[in-house]
Amino acid sequence: MPGERILIVEDDERIGATLLRALEGSGYEARWEQTGRGALTAVAAIRPDLVLLDLGLPDIDGLEVCREIHRGDSTIDVVMLTARDEELDVVVGLDAGAIDYITKPFKLAELLARLRAQFRRAEPRIESRATAGDLTIDGNARRAWLHGDELVLRAKEFDLLARLVGDAGNAVSRETLMADVWDEHWFGSTKTLDFHIAALRRKIDPADGVSRITTLRGVGYRFELS
Ligand code: CA
Repeated sequence: MPGERILIVEDDERIGATLLRALEGSGYEARWEQTGRGALTAVAAIRPDLVLLDLGLPDIDGLEVCREIHRGDSTIDVVMLTARDEELDVVVGLDAGAIDYITKPFKLAELLARLRAQFRRAEPRIESRATAGDLTIDGNARRAWLHGDELVLRAKEFDLLARLVGDAGNAVSRETLMADVWDEHWFGSTKTLDFHIAALRRKIDPADGVSRITTLRGVGYRFELS
């Protein structure tokens, strides 16, 4: 049984009730709130591992709820639930602090598979410390430092960084990254990877310079050695 705490924020009675039943049935500790205000109270009270957050809530805009959650704790994973016609822009979602999104209507089996992938912890490619330029990673402790300052990374951000740094100087394909960091049978959005790369860049790149992570169009990404 997984046991992770998931907060569902959804004002649609049918979707909310279905999600609650499905998550509890899968062994998660789930709680359902129908308003943004209720969500913020619940986040403070139960410190969820992940929040499934509907974008269109009756009281507070979902993006604002997301921002507010991260003002309190920037390590909580927020997955946005959005209707197809309001597909979330990567930049807007990232600005608010979301780590991924799922479009409605969704298949329950797909959503559960993506949650399993989200909570799956990748085997570190690096057993102990690895250094690439001014970045140091400890795979066992799951910690990373930039110029000696520890980075605050969410679980998947760490897995992705460790995977890239473990192959620093080499190209790593999108398929390999999705398989190693998420799941080999990943069938969610490929934007998930772009979300995480963009989030990482914000945390590790110099404000005015070339990114440490190079995009290889049509291939994948490469972590630069220096
Ligand atoms: Ca709604």
